[in-house]
Amino acid sequence: MLIYLCFFQIFVCLLTTLPTLVALPTAPEESSSSNDFVQTTLLLELLCVAIVAALFVKYILPVSKKQSKSIQSCTAFLSVSATYAYRRPGTVHTFVNPLGFSSILTWVGLLIAKVVALQFLDQIVLKVVRKCVKPKQLQFRTSHPKVLGLQKLEWIDFTYLSMNQVIEYIFALNVVDFSLKQQYVYWSVSNISILNTVVALYLLFVLDDLLYAPTHYFMHWKRIYPYIHKHHHRQNLPKRGYVFVSCLSNVC
Ligand SMILES: [Zn+2]
Repeated sequence: MLIYLCFFQIFVCLLTTLPTLVALPTAPEESSSSNDFVQTTLLLELLCVAIVAALFVKYILPVSKKQSKSIQSCTAFLSVSATYAYRRPGTVHTFVNPLGFSSILTWVGLLIAKVVALQFLDQIVLKVVRKCVKPKQLQFRTSHPKVLGLQKLEWIDFTYLSMNQVIEYIFALNVVDFSLKQQYVYWSVSNISILNTVVALYLLFVLDDLLYAPTHYFMHWKRIYPYIHKHHHRQNLPKRGYVFVSCLSNVC
């Protein structure tokens, strides 16, 4: 089952990295003109692509009404990404490959290694936590035994999980790049202080919550909710953070 999940997710991962695969081999030398994203014609083109993609899903693709808006925004996002990668390969190249891997194989290979490693880590964490902590069922589960929640992940769940894997991977690459380049990121043990450890960690959580709370509130705005965040709440049975969220088979 684990191997099957890995292969399925890697397959969808590769599909969602198509814009990147298009961009990497054709990436030209960076030039000052690569930053002119705010060019009106390109913006209009991207807007048209997004609208056409959304209309295609709405009127032509046979998807259920419940998931239509979610798939509309997802397809529009992928179409806009692909178009932008085609129009601005240099900019996309710098963004998706900040560490400058010379080969696509290295880039994709690391992505696959990350997917497989995380799947194994999830399984290890679940088994260890279940065996050592033996967590009690949440109160909601015992008081609402008839609420079953999302029982089985569908193709759309795997698609979004796979897209998240790619986004997370590109984010991680950029964090590594940022850490290597910034002079205020210290690498020597002798530079450790209360300020850049305990205080910084505390501020990290404060900053995270400051951004997370209003963003989450925005995602629940009636007009935006069905396009992005609704899918996340398909699981309406409360789960205990990482322990259960990481469980793809949903048997916990
Ligand atoms: Zn929410």
